[in-house]
Amino acid sequence: MSEKNLRICEKGHKYYKSSDCPTCPVCEAQNKPKSGFLSLISAPARRALENAGITTLEKLAKQSEKDILKLHGIGKTAIPKLREALKAENLSFTNS
Ligand SMILES: [Zn+2]
Repeated sequence: MSEKNLRICEKGHKYYKSSDCPTCPVCEAQNKPKSGFLSLISAPARRALENAGITTLEKLAKQSEKDILKLHGIGKTAIPKLREALKAENLSFTNS
C-alpha cells in the first residue's frame, strides 16, 4: 500500500506523490517549451534555434527553410519535424 506524501519542491510548489520520484509536476510543466516544438528536434538544432532567437512557432514561421538550414547545428532531418510542428498550428515556413 502506498501513501501519498505532501512534498514541497525547492521552488516551493506543493504536490503529492506516492512514489519516491522527486520530480515536481509544476516545475516539470514550466520547463517544457510552450509550443513543444523545440523538444522534437536534436539538442544541437534546438540550440541553433535558441541562439537565433527562434523560440516560438510564430517566430519560426517568419523564416524560410533555407534560412533555418543556414543555422549552424540544424540538420536536414530537423526540417520535416519543424514543418510538421508548424503545420499542427496552421503555420508554415515562408517561401522567400
Ligand atoms: Zn516545483
